[in-house]
Amino acid sequence: METKKKDIRALTKDQLRNFFVEQGDKAFRGNQVYEWLWQKSAHSFDAMTNVSKETRQMLEDHFVINHIRVDQMQRSSDGTIKNAVRLHDGLVVESVLIPTETRTTACVSSQVGCSLDCRFCATARMKRMRNLNADEIYDQVVAIDNESRLYHDRPLSNIVFMGMGEPLMNYNNVLKAIEMITSPEGLGMSPKRITVSTSGVPKMIKKMADEEVKFGLAVSLHSAIDEVRTSIMPFNANFPLKDLREALEYWYSKTKNRITYEYVVWKGINDTQEAVDALVKFCKFAPSKVNLIEYNPIDDGEFQQASEAAVTMYQNTLERNGITVTVRRSRGKDIDAACGQLANKQ
Ligand code: SF4
Repeated sequence: METKKKDIRALTKDQLRNFFVEQGDKAFRGNQVYEWLWQKSAHSFDAMTNVSKETRQMLEDHFVINHIRVDQMQRSSDGTIKNAVRLHDGLVVESVLIPTETRTTACVSSQVGCSLDCRFCATARMKRMRNLNADEIYDQVVAIDNESRLYHDRPLSNIVFMGMGEPLMNYNNVLKAIEMITSPEGLGMSPKRITVSTSGVPKMIKKMADEEVKFGLAVSLHSAIDEVRTSIMPFNANFPLKDLREALEYWYSKTKNRITYEYVVWKGINDTQEAVDALVKFCKFAPSKVNLIEYNPIDDGEFQQASEAAVTMYQNTLERNGITVTVRRSRGKDIDAACGQLANKQ
């Protein structure tokens, strides 16, 4: 009977060191292999040139390296790149490189499909198949960093967890991936350059606050009125705004970090003065920034971007109330790489 080999990157460094000791080898061999696996992103044991042939064979007998493969890369006229990333079991997720004048941002996926059901989102139409492993998230970042160096002559500068999936529904793997992205044994990036974007899972926001994470938090809010929010993000019925607000207050009390809100203004849904007043009331308790994001219709979507006048009304009201606001034009629309458009449609 064939036994399934284990994904070697599921092991911690200590576990890998112990494995070598159990095999009658030296613990430091574990350090060498760990470096190949993470810092050097080796795709095969054979690539580990400072490890003996016998050891490489022994690793081959016990483990696999489940690296991702960029199946298809699409480049937009504005420099945005979208990767269709094939996982070891054949499933596909997408990640995006977004270049601006000053930074290159990777937007990465955390689940295949999504556990939630936001009505304006293309990913929500795919059934949630599974969570991504930490190494699958890490590999997306490595792939985009390589593309950034190749096509934009600079390394990746920022990461947002805003691709497919709700990152806080895959909490452990997302945190482990971030640990490796920020570790000197991985990519050594600053946690300040990473933002986890959630649709708002109160319990998990509190957990992150307790763990004193160093990365930023963004909340896809889209409405600060329960009835409206539930109509566009049905899970809000289970996690109402009162609970979300309480979790965010807790987050702020622990981290003292500004909170970012992602917000789309849709015609006939939240383009009223009442809606913006509710938003001000919701986020005034802590230093906040609101990103007003341009909406990208998904094929047969019933959602439409609100008028310029409505966006200006939001901008003026927020600024008057001392809330930082930016208006984000969408990137990569021609390759369906913009926010809410990721749905494995190559
Ligand atoms: S917007 Fe985010 S949380 Fe909502 S369904 Fe889409 S991927 Fe999931």
